[in-house]
Amino acid sequence: MTVAVPMFVQPVIGFRVWRLGADGLLLPRAVSALERLAAEPWRPGRNDARCMYLGRSRALHRSPRADCDCGLYAYHEVARMARAARAEDCIGGAVAAWGDLEVHRTGFRAQHAQVIALALPDEAKLVASAQLAAARYGVALVPCDELHGRAAAAGAPLPESARPARRRLWTSARRESSDADAPARSEGGRAVA
Ligand SMILES: [Zn+2]
Repeated sequence: MTVAVPMFVQPVIGFRVWRLGADGLLLPRAVSALERLAAEPWRPGRNDARCMYLGRSRALHRSPRADCDCGLYAYHEVARMARAARAEDCIGGAVAAWGDLEVHRTGFRAQHAQVIALALPDEAKLVASAQLAAARYGVALVPCDELHGRAAAAGAPLPESARPARRRLWTSARRESSDADAPARSEGGRAVA
């Protein structure tokens, strides 16, 4: 039964961490052997979630899905990203997400996402690679405390009211053209719980 239909008329902003390649490629932080095997670098512009279990333990399905853990991950808050970005050879940044979202208390998994800005790493040895990444993905490299402001131009974080205390919540955010280079304001989305 549909009990709530909040409207999200623009992409949802989130913050995440990548493994930073020396050549400026942003790679998923693989935590399992399977993830390392399936890991592909993020692309400039739109990225589409793809289930890494396809052909292994799962039949074809749209990603994300409630009973799987696939999707493009991001935190709601910059602070959580900043803590996670302290891991070795990692960089934080802001993404705009749209399409189906599976929302958790601290973050979400999205169907589509795009890098919006990158946070300047604390470690001096990563700065050159971070500059290459910013050029490769066509985004600004800014101090961490400026990340939220940069991201705000591309969308809005999910409101507290849309973040479940414990359980998951299905929602979606849509935009008019899924092929545009930059996230644009969209026609609307709806959430069902
Ligand atoms: Zn899946």
